[in-house]
Amino acid sequence: MMNTPLTIAPMLERAEAYFPKKEVVSRTLDTTHRLTYKDIGKRTRALSSALEKLGVQRGERVGSFAWNHHRHLEAYFGVPGMGAVVHMINIRLPEEHLVHVINHAEDRVLLIDEDLLPLIERVKDKLTSVHTYVVMTDKDTLPETSLEPLYSYEALLHDGDEAYEFLRDIDENEPAAMCYTSATTGLPKGVMYSHRGIALHTLSLGLADSAGASENDVSMPVVPMFHANAWGMPFSSTWFGSKQVLPGPYFTPKLLAELIEEEQVTISAGVPTIWLGLLQELEQGNYDTSSLRAVLCGGSAAPKGMIETFEKKHDIRFVHAYGLTETTPLVTLARIKSHQHDLSQEDQLDIRSTQGMVVPGIDIKVINENGEVNWNGEDMGELLIRGPWIADEYYNDERTTEAFKDGWFHTGDVVTIDEEGNLRIVDRTKDLIKSGGEWISSVDLENAIMAHDAVQEAAVVAVADPKWQERPVACVVLKDSHRASKDDIIDFLRPQFAKWWLPDDVMFLEEIPKTSVGKFLKRALREKVKQ
Ligand code: ADP
Repeated sequence: MMNTPLTIAPMLERAEAYFPKKEVVSRTLDTTHRLTYKDIGKRTRALSSALEKLGVQRGERVGSFAWNHHRHLEAYFGVPGMGAVVHMINIRLPEEHLVHVINHAEDRVLLIDEDLLPLIERVKDKLTSVHTYVVMTDKDTLPETSLEPLYSYEALLHDGDEAYEFLRDIDENEPAAMCYTSATTGLPKGVMYSHRGIALHTLSLGLADSAGASENDVSMPVVPMFHANAWGMPFSSTWFGSKQVLPGPYFTPKLLAELIEEEQVTISAGVPTIWLGLLQELEQGNYDTSSLRAVLCGGSAAPKGMIETFEKKHDIRFVHAYGLTETTPLVTLARIKSHQHDLSQEDQLDIRSTQGMVVPGIDIKVINENGEVNWNGEDMGELLIRGPWIADEYYNDERTTEAFKDGWFHTGDVVTIDEEGNLRIVDRTKDLIKSGGEWISSVDLENAIMAHDAVQEAAVVAVADPKWQERPVACVVLKDSHRASKDDIIDFLRPQFAKWWLPDDVMFLEEIPKTSVGKFLKRALREKVKQ
């Protein structure tokens, strides 16, 4: 058969040809834009040609430092379309990490949102590879800034060639994009995505038993475009011709609820904290969310209580998925198999709150010191993954050898796998609590605590213990105007866990420290608890 390359530009070309009038709704600092794929196509071509004029060479990196909006979408296609690599930079990285990722990726050009300029100005003297800054703004004038040379994105597009032909001779194995992990320990690690990896991952999002992404959808990625390619949604929406809604900077749960109602969003994706926020908003306001056919949730474990509330109270289908920056990211997704449709609602909910089953195209295995674990839902081991959209190294990084061995990516996630092949993430290796020689899963305890009516969020960490080595301590944030004591929480857990699993203490906090992508920052929490 023909060996035609799987590359990124044809995704946009398809949208231009078949869905020229379909809309991309994009919220920016100043306004809400409505563009069509025809507009986006022209603008993206102009961007590619402008990058060539700026001297960007094939294979070089162009950094994006931006929220979710149409200009970022254009960079997703325009940078790889002229043969360079788009490096989506996490806008919430601490300064040291920010400098590291830009220098390590050797970004030549940075595309920066206007409101984020100060973050780059602060570190500009430490940047070693950038030769050009571009500000993405709706305004006609350039903002005051110490960054130079600085160009306006819109002015570059204005002088660019709307009829630019995307490169035809790109090998599908060439890099197209890159992201760094947000790194709960150490410096962020870089992952390069090939054109081929992204294309195959994108196709997998369209499978009916996966996200089922289709032209009928109105898709709204809430997950940032700098976090693992916004889980591939900008690619699938464009290739399949779905309407896209990009929620822009500083969005609130209220804004998301309004966008869902006004734009008739059918599918959205984000981390659990986003959905917790939206739930609270839905309790307070009166919104029509009936257009939603699914919300995808990943990045951290989705508490069962939250899934239940979304479905029972709001009739919104909640799909729990799992993946990592290293895996583009989709690996597993929780679904009910056809022979399970008669199970009770409770049993179905149990299945749908696991991380689910591996999608077609990807292989997994779970190993511990005794070899591969049995599929019994009990034996724990580390999850290994391989497949055509799984990274095979960290970019220029010695840590490659720890994580990529014998053709498998070692995730550092400890999991069980049940008779049906559903994974349950027990913990990250480093977050498991070892008490008296036995493992306690912080994730299980957290999920159980979050099912308590008064609890908004809960995280469980280990504290050193002279007798047991480590013991669990729960950190709990209560919902506004709710009360609960330590004993209330422990009594609530008592029927569900063995006595030695129960936390030794419950601390009530105003908030739980989070990573730049909204996950519990256990390292900071352990410090807090120690104090
Ligand atoms: P980072 O590693 O920078 O936090 P990633 O998004 O790559 O960013 O994080 C991947 C990790 O997130 C996984 O190794 C796993 O521990 C966790 N994770 C992702 N999805 C889920 C999920 N559905 N349930 C539990 N943990 C998850």
